[in-house]
This record gives sequence, C-alpha cells and structure tokens, in this order.
Amino acid sequence: MRRAVYAVATSALIAVGAAAQPSATPAASPPAPPARMTIAARWVLDGRGAIVENATVVIEQGRIARIERRFAKDATLSFPSGALLPGLIDVHVHPASIERDGRLGAIGDNAAPGPSMLLAVANLARTLRAGYTTVLSLGSNADLDLRAAIAEGRLAGPRLLTTLAPINNAQLTPDSLRALVRQRAAAGADAIKLFASLGLGDGGAPTMTSEQLDAICGEARTTGLRSVVHAHSSESIRRAVMAGCTAIEHGVFVDQPVLDLMAERGTWFDPQCTMVFDNYLEHRLTWFAGGSYAKPEGEVLLKRGRELGATLTRAAAATKGLKLAFGTDAVAVGNGRNTDDLLCRVERGGQRPMDVIVTATSRNAESLGLANELGAIAPGLAADLIVVAGNPAADIHALSRVGLVMRGGIVHHFDPTQLRP
Ligand SMILES: [Zn+2]
Repeated sequence: MRRAVYAVATSALIAVGAAAQPSATPAASPPAPPARMTIAARWVLDGRGAIVENATVVIEQGRIARIERRFAKDATLSFPSGALLPGLIDVHVHPASIERDGRLGAIGDNAAPGPSMLLAVANLARTLRAGYTTVLSLGSNADLDLRAAIAEGRLAGPRLLTTLAPINNAQLTPDSLRALVRQRAAAGADAIKLFASLGLGDGGAPTMTSEQLDAICGEARTTGLRSVVHAHSSESIRRAVMAGCTAIEHGVFVDQPVLDLMAERGTWFDPQCTMVFDNYLEHRLTWFAGGSYAKPEGEVLLKRGRELGATLTRAAAATKGLKLAFGTDAVAVGNGRNTDDLLCRVERGGQRPMDVIVTATSRNAESLGLANELGAIAPGLAADLIVVAGNPAADIHALSRVGLVMRGGIVHHFDPTQLRP
C-alpha cells in the first residue's frame, strides 16, 4: 500500500506556489510571504534542544506565530514522516569562490565577470537547497551585490552576511588597521574578518602582533561589528582571544589550555571537521596544479588536517563552557556540501545529534548576534524552516534528505522525493 509522505492543502498551494515563483521583473522589495500558513510534522525540533512529536507550526506574515501540540489534519503542508526544524546556519562560507576551467578561482580575478557571477549564484542556490537559510561569507567584496539581490528577492539564496574582503596585511600599523575596519564598516560589512596566523602548511604561526589584533578587534567593537579571526596555532589564538576578538576560525593546532582560555573569555570557536579537507583532497591536483597542495606532501598535510579536524572537534565539544559555532569553510563546489561537517561532528567528533543541530541553528544565530531574529522555532522569529526525512535527533543523516526549505515564510525549495521513508 502506498503511504502518503506529504500532503498539501490545495487552497494554500496556490499561495505557496505563487510565492515560490521567480518574478518576471526585478522586484524593488522582497515578494510578500503568504498571510498565514501551517505546517504539521511528525517531529518539530525547536533548535534549542526541545523536540515535540506530532505538532503544527503556525506561520503568519513570514514569522512564526506558535507551535501547536497536535498534528493538524487541515495543515497547509503536512509531513507525517518528516521533521520540521529551523533553517541551518553556516558561519564560514565562500560563495564567491568558484571552480572555473578546473582551477580554483574567485569573482574579481582575471576571468570574465558574468560567468563567474553565475557560478557564485549556483553556489548559493546549492547551499539553500541543502537547508541553509543563513550564511556568513568570510568574505569577498562581490558579496555586496549577491546580498542585495537575495535580500530584494531577485535571487534565491540563504540570507547572506559578509565581512567583505578580509584584513590580512600584517605590515600595517595599528592606526592603518583601525582605518581599514572603519572602511569595511562604511562599505556595509556585517562583521570583520582578519588573519592572525599563517595557514595549515606553515604550522599556523602568528602573523599579527597583540597590538595589531587589539587595534582591529577593538575598532570592530567600537563600530558595533563582530570580529572573526583565522588562526591555527595556540599562540595566534591566545593573542586574538586576549584582544577581545569575537570568534576564532580553524584552530587546527590549538592546545587544551587555549581551548580553556576561549571558554573562560567567552570567545566563539568554530573548528572544521572534514568537508574543507575532503574538498581540497578531491580537487587538489587540478585546483592547485603546480602548487604545494598538488604535491605528495600536500596530500599528506591535508589528510593530517582531516584527522586533526575530527580530533579537535571532539576536544572542543568536551571543553566545558566553550561556545561552539558551526562553519564549514565551503569553497567552490563545497558550497552545498555543508552538512558533511554536521555528520562528521557526530560520527567522528563524538557529539550527540541534538547538540550538533542546536549548534547549527540557535547557537549559530547567537554567535551572529541574531538570536532574536532567527535560529529557532519560537513565536516572533523569522519563518526560516526546513523539513527533512526522519528524525535527525535519532539519525543525523536525516539532515541530508531535505524536502522543503522556507526562508522568511516563502517556500524556496520543495522536493517531496527526498521525503519518502
Ligand atoms: Zn575560509
């Protein structure tokens, strides 16, 4: 006997369908979400650690009105074997990073801008389809056009936040670095990205002095922006933490005392578990042809990074009081494979599925300073929601089967074939 995997009330399908259609002419303002709709699901995960079985979420004007503790038979959309949860958030992506002619590139390098921009648009579309309704790009000046197009409803994509181009010049004086922060803020950056260390291959040695970090992160704080730091070694991270920077990315070589220091000072930490290393390993011969990653020692290094990523994720999760964020460092075709890192955090990082889900939703929203706007299913928050096949708190792989993606009350992606039990 065939089993219904989803049901759609016909009266509201029109509203959903209309909202999901791209408009023929560019809109000056975003298309309006349906006035009211309801979604019933076998499981509703609120993104803060609670799970309600057989519940219905009421959405009004693109915002969550309430959760009802019953499976409404007349819901606009119903998913008898699906889980409804907040849209996922990735705080470290690179949508302007593209693969072109086999090489790793970026918008703004020497290639034709039109085709490059289309590849970035495709990156964002894949990310949205994978269930990510908010991302932070770390970052590119090309993000400004993409962010505006998404916000105005001209382009389907996750809510895009950006740091614009990172600050990476360790030769500059503190005053010059402060001026760069103010310039980024004036240009519309949502946060400041800076490099405090060399990369994986150089052992992540510090590049910026404490004085320089104080200047950048202090000025960011003054302008009301968070500061996100690329840092691999314990010493580079220690300096950034003591300078009051908001969040640390990577940290492949961090030791336990510095993990404890981050916990003590309330610094957010985002280790990458596997996807960035897998992505480089799979493409290193073409992306980096002639470069160090294409050589045998590059392969060894990336494989070591992948091992350290899982070990580090485990150590970070076990560090009492450490504020963990979730970001993948998705470049080029890695955009859309973000969930690989959620699976890794459970399977190789030793975390409970529910903890990983909370990190990628409400905790990430908190890390972005947006906890009052998104990241949970709670009254008043934006209706950024996804439906996946099965209960991800029991089997994290459910997050790989995304059947519905809604952002701000508008259905952007609906694929019932993903929802077959
Ligand atoms: Zn990155």
